Amino acid sequence: MTTANQAGGLLMYRLLKPGLSLPWWLIVLGLLAGMARAEPLVLEGAILDGGNLSAHLQLLEDPQGSLTLEQVQGMTFQPNMANSANFGFSSSAWWVRLTLDNPYDRHQEVLLRQDYPLIDWLEFWAPDAQGAWQVRRTGDRTPFASREVQHRDFIFVVDLPAHSQRTYYLRYASGGPVNIALSLYSPQALIERISLEQLAYGCYYGGFLALVLYNLFMFLAVRDRAFLFYLLYVSCYGLYMAVHNGLTYQFLWPHNPALANDSLLLLLGLSLFGGLKFTRTILATRRLAPRLDLLGRALQALCLLLLLAIPLFSYAQLIQPYSYLTLVVTLQLLLLGIAAFVAGSRPARYYLLAWTALLVGVTVYMLKTFGWLPHNWMTQNAFQLGSLIEMLLLSLALGARVRDLHHDSYRDALTGLANRRQFDERMREHCQQYREHGQPLSLLLLDIDHFKRFNDEFGHQAGDRVLQEVARLLQLEVRRPYTACRYGGEEFAVIMPDARGEAAEVLAERLRRELRRASRSDAPLTLSIGIASLDEGRFDSPEQLFAAADSALYAAKSGGRDRVMHWQAAD
Ligand code: GH3
Ligand code: MG
Ligand code: MG
Repeated sequence: MTTANQAGGLLMYRLLKPGLSLPWWLIVLGLLAGMARAEPLVLEGAILDGGNLSAHLQLLEDPQGSLTLEQVQGMTFQPNMANSANFGFSSSAWWVRLTLDNPYDRHQEVLLRQDYPLIDWLEFWAPDAQGAWQVRRTGDRTPFASREVQHRDFIFVVDLPAHSQRTYYLRYASGGPVNIALSLYSPQALIERISLEQLAYGCYYGGFLALVLYNLFMFLAVRDRAFLFYLLYVSCYGLYMAVHNGLTYQFLWPHNPALANDSLLLLLGLSLFGGLKFTRTILATRRLAPRLDLLGRALQALCLLLLLAIPLFSYAQLIQPYSYLTLVVTLQLLLLGIAAFVAGSRPARYYLLAWTALLVGVTVYMLKTFGWLPHNWMTQNAFQLGSLIEMLLLSLALGARVRDLHHDSYRDALTGLANRRQFDERMREHCQQYREHGQPLSLLLLDIDHFKRFNDEFGHQAGDRVLQEVARLLQLEVRRPYTACRYGGEEFAVIMPDARGEAAEVLAERLRRELRRASRSDAPLTLSIGIASLDEGRFDSPEQLFAAADSALYAAKSGGRDRVMHWQAAD
């Protein structure tokens, strides 16, 4: 949903387009409304606080884009009918007429702001003191320095002498959406407004930067490719938003108008690609939803294809295919999330939560755009806010994945018991505690008797089931703080901190009995168990304790199997 703006623009265009070839009754209505609204805008009070001027604008569409100022001056402008003046993708040039009135005894300097910075060509026509027309030409197809005020948006300084009325014209032409978003400010109001905005953008992009740095370090530490895809996704997405806000052009490549325009497509394509790659990796959809995964790969290829098309086609030709691709990819990402969630993936929970955050943001933003929610700071920025929360939750999904991988690396895949690696670490810890605090420690080593024979007779798979059976028994009987491990093959171990030899013997005896009782009478399973305890003597390293328990196990085997033996100094 990176291009909710774009998609929104497209949607608005579809909705508003019929209004552009106006039916007669709308024209009459418009003229009536226009008569009321064509009155000049008086420069006083709240009008200079940056309110939306849409309702005060008069518009003229120039489908060929060939009209000059002299020509349009003699033509009829239509009052703007809607609450906004967003024309979506339009190959026409759009003229805006605006009349300002200064009723005061002093001259007034006000600032006219165009709040959507991706307009290709923007002209501002104002009469000078002698009444001659002066034009200021800018837009994001001209170097950033062409702007009168060095700001991410377009800001024009307008000087109005005392007791005067003047008419101004603006001309918009753009390969992307023509979003006419004009507002007026007194210098003081603009300073106050921009200082707040810059703080908000600082927080927003600061959040992105923190996520990028954090996940970069995580990648360097963990070396999981999922982090790399996340980095691609989050950095392209963040930069894409910054393109929309006009910040990249101002701060990153102010001398490069071509990049200012193509960067939008480039970053959009890359973030869609990164989003797909990232999603497919952390949700393991190749395994969990193979068919959807295949579709995801096809869409990835399409992203790459559209990226390659950037140098070959114009922005205007590509922006619509990109918008459609965005919608399709968004849907696909959601479907992948739902499929993985249904298949029981843990990261999918965070993943879907992340998408919910974004969708809530987009919905609030859309409802505001259509006038169903009030226009305020929250609704205006709901989309961006939602996207930052989305990225944060996706980073949590990555965290959940790392936790899972970590968890798996300490578990035996067949039985789910602690594995050899965990055994070694636990043993080292507990021996340390014995040396420092004298805390007792006992160790059981369990080995299934004649297991090779069982395998030979009933097959390897039946053998595996027996191993799982034994593991289930251990899980049932061995409680915290004791740990049951699969040491290897058909050998198991139980680490018993804070337990002396007697307690170990009781548990070992119970395990031996229970397994025997649970096994089939035609194929009885028995265990030989060796026990050693640290407080019994001369060993204080994990290796020595293990060797002692192992010699006890050997004694149990040679003593006839199906028995528990305690280590004895005489061994
Ligand atoms: P003993 O009573 O002396 O312990 O005899 P044993 O046959 O149990 O001991 P031995 O060490 O000779 O053989 C162990 C057998 O365990 C060999 C191997 O086929 C089997 N085994 C080891 N790991 C697995 C496994 O993961 N699955 C299955 N099914 N069998 C395994
Ligand atoms: Mg063995
Ligand atoms: Mg054995």
